Amino acid sequence: MQLSRRVTDTPPYLFHLIDEKRKAAQKKGIDVISLAIGDPDQPTPSFVLDLMDEEMRDPRNHSYPSYKGEPDFCKAVAKWFDGRFGVELDPETEIMAVIGAKDAVSHLPFVFLDPGDSALVTDPGYPVYEAAIGFAGGKVIRVPLVEENGFLPDLGAISPRDADLAKIMFINYPNNPTSAVAEKSFFQRLVTFAVKHDIVILSDNAYSEVYFEKADRPISIMSVKGAKQIAIEIHSFSKTFNMTGWRVGFVTGGKDLINAFLTLKSNFDSGVFMAIQRVAARALEHPEAATFNKERTALFKNRRDRIARVLTDLGLRFQLPRASYYFWVRIPDSYPSSVEFCANLLEEKGLIVTPGIGYGPSGERFFRLSMTSPDERIDQGLERLKAFIKELL
Ligand code: PLP
Repeated sequence: MQLSRRVTDTPPYLFHLIDEKRKAAQKKGIDVISLAIGDPDQPTPSFVLDLMDEEMRDPRNHSYPSYKGEPDFCKAVAKWFDGRFGVELDPETEIMAVIGAKDAVSHLPFVFLDPGDSALVTDPGYPVYEAAIGFAGGKVIRVPLVEENGFLPDLGAISPRDADLAKIMFINYPNNPTSAVAEKSFFQRLVTFAVKHDIVILSDNAYSEVYFEKADRPISIMSVKGAKQIAIEIHSFSKTFNMTGWRVGFVTGGKDLINAFLTLKSNFDSGVFMAIQRVAARALEHPEAATFNKERTALFKNRRDRIARVLTDLGLRFQLPRASYYFWVRIPDSYPSSVEFCANLLEEKGLIVTPGIGYGPSGERFFRLSMTSPDERIDQGLERLKAFIKELL
């Protein structure tokens, strides 16, 4: 058997490796606590489950879905988008259903890149961006995110040559792993930059609903004039409604961009189960959605503040997360690498956090800690982290 270079050149998926490590440690009898993965511990809310009970029994939902997404799904998304971001979208041409944000992230590079083309990616960043660019035969140009710049890319520091070479740029605010949020002024600069250099912006807004203060409420790049022509924004129900396993999301953008993606996707897959699309559409409009969102925000804000207190007491350096599920924390100066830090933490204390290097070279001096485990497991995990850090001193 000879595998393609596409596969042999791609490193194993970070979270798959972490999962393997967790299983191996558990096999040794270690009670492992994982604060590594961003998968909400809370179930999908019961009002969504009730909708599913209805929709899955409706035979009109059992056949192949339309490739673009069901008209009622696209209409509900358009209505929600207008209410939430103040942006009008044409449900027929500017919205398309996807099988979770990862579907869009992993396939969009194929729409814009020919082998050898370049793509800008923020570093650190969600690992799928680089993998997908690689699968499409593209070359990655990393744009560092540093704390001094609020973990936003410094567009002025991208060389004109790289900017002209790049055909796409992945951007992700609220950001995984740094939890930074971008203001409208940043998106305005980004759109100007993209128009100047003829770059398609792929804006991953999977965490748009996971924020803690009203002032930090994430915006949509689509609210910037001219963005529709040069950007695709990616959304997901995974985090908004604790629906990670359901695999549903959508993309928005100008008609030509969406059409181009449709050409690819209609050949690659057969869309999202119609029952799930209809549940998702009805969830957006459901009277219980607002209450659920409020409760979810309160839960994560409480966790965020508790975790922040412990990390501060331990003298660890981090910025208070403004959105998303993650703490992006500096490893102690005495440690040579994030991998060593995380490996020792697992071996000595049975606690898994993610090494920053997994998100790109700029993540080397960081680890990522996720707040998506039950409160008591988070508390136990923090006790283990405390013991580990204290032994270093
Ligand atoms: N984009 C980012 C930045 C993510 O962190 C994740 C998942 O953790 C995804 C996309 C994938 O989301 P989905 O479950 O909608 O595929």
